[in-house]
Amino acid sequence: MVNVLSVLGSTGSIGRQTLAAAEHLGLRVAALTAQRKIDLLEQQARQFQPDFVAVYDEAAAKQFKIAVADTSIRVGSGIGGLMEAATLHQADCVVTAVSGAIGLRPTLAAIDERKRIALANKETLVCAGEIVMRRAKEKGAEIVPVDSEHSAIFQCLMGRKPGELHKILLTGSGGPFRGKARAELEDVTPEQAVAHPNWSMGAKISVDSATMMNKGLEFIEAMHLFAVTPDDITVVIHPQSVIHSMVELCDGTVIAQLGVPDMGLPIQLALTYPERCPSMFEHLDFYKLRDLTFEAPDYEKTPCLRLAMDCARRGGAAACVMSAANEVAVHRFLRRELGYNRIYDAAAGAVEKLGALPCPDLDAVLAADEAARAYVRENF
Ligand code: MG
Repeated sequence: MVNVLSVLGSTGSIGRQTLAAAEHLGLRVAALTAQRKIDLLEQQARQFQPDFVAVYDEAAAKQFKIAVADTSIRVGSGIGGLMEAATLHQADCVVTAVSGAIGLRPTLAAIDERKRIALANKETLVCAGEIVMRRAKEKGAEIVPVDSEHSAIFQCLMGRKPGELHKILLTGSGGPFRGKARAELEDVTPEQAVAHPNWSMGAKISVDSATMMNKGLEFIEAMHLFAVTPDDITVVIHPQSVIHSMVELCDGTVIAQLGVPDMGLPIQLALTYPERCPSMFEHLDFYKLRDLTFEAPDYEKTPCLRLAMDCARRGGAAACVMSAANEVAVHRFLRRELGYNRIYDAAAGAVEKLGALPCPDLDAVLAADEAARAYVRENF
């Protein structure tokens, strides 16, 4: 179990739930960061009294500094502020709950300081999985996944030897538009796309869940986290989101992790691991559970998932380019500047144009990421 947290992205959905878990578990919070939501950030800062708070946006950071002038909280800004929060010596665990590729450098910096990474930022592994996992191994830093599927797989693999794993069964609900073809989705609005049937999540990941890009990103994330190949992962559509993923062992035994669909559970485990503590969440009632169903994904109707799986096989910059292009396209969709179906077009176009870039080191990753963003801004 960890003692002192640094929460990167504390005003987002995962960040807020992390602070609730910290309060429940009695953990100290040494640092908070946010992009620009300073009203909520100020409330959090007054409640948890961190030593340091970083606001990414420079202008918002100045306002925040004035707002907390009566406290002893130090305030930072920009990527430097995020890096300082990630490496603060007081913290033994860094929760990476920022959205997007901005999480990459702070995560690596925290790994260098051998902090536990409670990893909620999937773009980090999608863009630079090999670099991040290699660095964690070298430094002996623990990475504990927060994403519900990866937390499930992590739990199913506890106590297993590497050779015993036959297959990862990555489950997904299929999102709000399961079974719908492209032509039926032409006029989807941001409001429709963010209304997930089972999970309450931030806007970006909710749109990714609707397009199934989220499952594709998770596919790539799982490959890196658990050191397996694309052929070792099968995506299973399970609309009820009760099973959060499974592993099939070499003897044919399947181990599944089940629970209510609440992100608070995997968040708490990432903080208490390897221990478990009572939680404030509902427990599953098997007398009320009916009809747990499973089906294969329809790849014709989920082109984003298909694209991500292709990128996983291609390696190099393909996944990074896809993820960065998707990120820009989703934000444009949320601002109503781009149609729903154009999200896939942007990601696929970027991969076609830039997917063959080599990706040997962090600078190359960041260059590929930037090139993909520029491609979407210029062409969509
Ligand atoms: Mg997930």
